[in-house]
Amino acid sequence: MTFNALLLEQTDETVTAAMTELGDDRLPEGDVTVAVEWSSLNYKDGMILSGLGRLVRKYPHVPGVDLAGTVESSDDDRYRQGDRVVLTGWRVGETHWGGYSERARVKGDWLVPLPDGLTTRQAMSVGTAGFAAMQGLLALEEHGLEPGPDQPLLVTGASGGLGSSAVLFAGAAGHHVVASTGRLENADELTALGAAEVIDRGELAENPSRPLLSERWAGCVDAVGGDTLAHILTEMRYGTSVAACGLAGGNGLATTVIPFLLRGVNLLGIDSVLCPTQRRRTVWNRIAEVVDAAKLESLTTEVELADVAALAPEILAGKVKGRVVVSCR
Ligand code: NDP
Repeated sequence: MTFNALLLEQTDETVTAAMTELGDDRLPEGDVTVAVEWSSLNYKDGMILSGLGRLVRKYPHVPGVDLAGTVESSDDDRYRQGDRVVLTGWRVGETHWGGYSERARVKGDWLVPLPDGLTTRQAMSVGTAGFAAMQGLLALEEHGLEPGPDQPLLVTGASGGLGSSAVLFAGAAGHHVVASTGRLENADELTALGAAEVIDRGELAENPSRPLLSERWAGCVDAVGGDTLAHILTEMRYGTSVAACGLAGGNGLATTVIPFLLRGVNLLGIDSVLCPTQRRRTVWNRIAEVVDAAKLESLTTEVELADVAALAPEILAGKVKGRVVVSCR
């Protein structure tokens, strides 16, 4: 049997991607073979497709950090032929061949059964970015964030994949979402998704010279990091939390200990890659519970597998809007 995949090759320091027909004997080790229906484009895929960050050490390589599809065969008792499954994280698409392929072979431990109410396409509309957004929201709620207009929840990078998903999920859960974006022309779309207010990201872009500014936010899902995160920390209300999810604006963090000491602010790290299995199920089930299918579709763009590599520079430049699903059949 053969299958088509987007194969990355490295020559010198350059990485190139091409659709390639491969034999099943090329599939990596694993106990479950999945007929991949959908994958998605995430910021990390943009890095991998561009050969940045040394995330992939061994070529040729099939990228795609997430996938959803149907089990074709399984040596793992928990999965049978025909089961619908979703996979994010575990460095799939980095150290193990990933979802940009018609077929994937993976460890059963990495899979989650598709939650009731979600299709495989919807699961990838959510994908890694949406999964991390929900992880962030759950962490904030567990640290005291409550729905309602008196608890403004800031979401940064709101036009991007993680941010728009956070707006969608938090809005649906009744939170008062303040969406921060560099693309104010998207304000109406963000409002339709679930934002109560939309602000210009320029308001948060500079690291202030003072360690504390007026208390403003009851929680934050941050996709941006860098000086934006440093700024946000100075504006958190007493005893509230920031879910640090991303670094689209830089991986540095020049801050002081003052927000932590004088306002009891919590900085919660969000990692979707090694998130434990039980927690994954909780996150997926909450997603299935709150998600509005029409709104999820409204933030989704579909591309063919052969066309996804062309979008890598776009996502790295912060120009991709919402989520991109990749059709793999
Ligand atoms: P996107 O590129 O889709 O979104 C990032 C958004 O951030 C952009 O759309 C833009 O939104 C904003 N942005 C981009 N550049 C800058 C900048 N220089 N300064 C301020 N804002 C900027 O990426 P994703 O949403 O998929 O991912 C966002 C981040 O989250 C990435 O760093 C990614 O690696 C990380 N991530 C982390 C995960 C985890 O497990 N913790 C999982 C998935 C992603 P706007 O135009 O609205 O301002």
